[in-house]
Amino acid sequence: MTDLIIIGAGPGGYKAALHAARLGLQVVLFEDAEVGGTCLNVGCIPTKTFVHAPSFEEAVQRQPLVVAQLRGGVETLLSQPNITLVRERASFVDAHTVASASGQHYTAPNIIVATGSSAKLLPIPGADLPAVVTSTELLQQKELPRRLCIIGAGVIGMEFASVFQRFGAQVTVVEYLKECLPMLDGDIAKRLRKLLEKRGITFHMGAGVQRIAPAAEGSSASVVFEKKGKEEAVEADLILMATGRKPVVSEDFAQAGFDFDERKGIAVDDDFQTTVPGIFAIGDVNGRQMLAHAAEMQGIHVVNRIAGKEDAICFEVMPAAIFTEPEAANVGPSEDQLKAAAIPFECHKAFYRANGKALAMAETEGMVKLCCEPGEGRILSCHVFGAHAADVVQEVTAFITLGASLQQLRDTIHIHPTLSEVLVELN
Ligand code: NAD
Repeated sequence: MTDLIIIGAGPGGYKAALHAARLGLQVVLFEDAEVGGTCLNVGCIPTKTFVHAPSFEEAVQRQPLVVAQLRGGVETLLSQPNITLVRERASFVDAHTVASASGQHYTAPNIIVATGSSAKLLPIPGADLPAVVTSTELLQQKELPRRLCIIGAGVIGMEFASVFQRFGAQVTVVEYLKECLPMLDGDIAKRLRKLLEKRGITFHMGAGVQRIAPAAEGSSASVVFEKKGKEEAVEADLILMATGRKPVVSEDFAQAGFDFDERKGIAVDDDFQTTVPGIFAIGDVNGRQMLAHAAEMQGIHVVNRIAGKEDAICFEVMPAAIFTEPEAANVGPSEDQLKAAAIPFECHKAFYRANGKALAMAETEGMVKLCCEPGEGRILSCHVFGAHAADVVQEVTAFITLGASLQQLRDTIHIHPTLSEVLVELN
C-alpha cells in the first residue's frame, strides 16, 4: 500500500520522499525530467559552479560534471525499498488518485504537489527573439557573450551580472525599480550595486523595459526602455530575461478539486495543506518563498505531520543569500520594513574593513546591519554584504530562531580570527 504520492523530484519533493522513507512510509515519487529539479539541474548548483570557476571556459566544462555527480548521488539515495520512482508525468484523476502518462493509476491517502516554477517572460514585443534567453539557456552557452544585457536586478539578474562581468563580458543591467534586490536592506543593496558598478557593470535603475528590437545586423538586439520619461536603448549580443518566476500549475489539478491560480500557484494553509484535506503543496508551486531550502523544510514539515511527528520548524525565520561576488544575505525584516510596521528597534552596524580575517583575505568590502529590540534585546534581523555573507547570516539565524538577544550573541565566544567576529564587533 502507498502512504504518500509526491509529484516532482526537486529539492522539495525528493527530500520529502527521503524523509518519509526514513519514517517508514511507502512513497511513490513522480518525475518526468531529471531528479534534483531546477536547483540541481539549471539553478543553484550550476550557477554556483560558475561563481567558483576561474574562467568561463572552465565553468562550461565543469558544470555538467558537477550536476551529473550530484544527480547520481540523489538517484542512489532514492533507490531504496520504501521509494518507487516513476519517471513519467503524473496527472490527477481525483483527490486521491494520480495517473502516470502510460496510464497506470496510483492511490494514496496523502499527496504532495512539488512541481516548482518556471521563468516568467515579460509580455513585450521582441521577447521571443533568438538573442533573448532565460537563466537556463544562459548556463548552456558555449561562448562568452561580448555584450550581455540583463533585464531585472533581482536575485538572478545580480548573480549573473556579477559572474559574467568577472568572466570578461560587458554587462548592462536594466531594472524598473530604483534599487536592486528589494528584499535586502536598501543601504546594503545600494553599497553592493555601487561596488559592482565600480568593477565595470552599467546599471540603468528606474528603467522599465518596453520592447526588444532586432539589431540591423547579426544576431544582436536592442533593449529599449523608458528612464525619467525618455526612451533609451542598449544593444547586446545576448539578453537575459530575469524578471521573476511563476508556479508550474496544470489543468488536471482541477480534478483534485483544490484552489489554485496560474499567477499565485496553489493556495495552502500554514501547514502547506491545500483546500482539499490530504493534498499538500510545497516549494515554488505554492508561491510563498521561492527558495530551495524553503521547499525542503516545507516538505519535511508536511511529512512529519502525515507521520504524526511533532516539529518546531520556524517558517517566519527564513534566511536567504545572493551569490554575487561578494555575497549578500539576509534574515528577518529590513530596517525600512521595521519602520513601516512601527516596530521599535535599534540598529547596530559593523564593517568588514575592521575585521582581521577580512583584512587577511583582502576582502575588506562589506557591512553588517543587525536590528534588535531596544536595549540590545531580542534580535529581529540581520542583513549583510561581504565575503561569506551567507555564513554570517546563518549564525544569526540560529540566534533569532532561539529567540536570543544581542547581549547573548555578544556573550558567545567566537573563534579568532574569523569573519563571524564581525558580529561581536557590532557598534
Ligand atoms: P525577482 O523577482 O527577484 O526580480 C525580478 C526583477 O525584475 C525585479 O526587480 C523587477 O522589478 C524587475 N522587472 C520586472 N519587469 C521589468 C521591466 N519591464 N523592466 C525592468 N525591470 C523589470 O526574480 P528573479 O531574479 O528572476 O528570480 C526568480 C526567483 O528565483 C526569485 O523568487 C528568487 O528568490 C529565486 N532565486 C533565488 C536565488 C537565491 O536564493 N540565491 C537564486 C536564483 C533565483
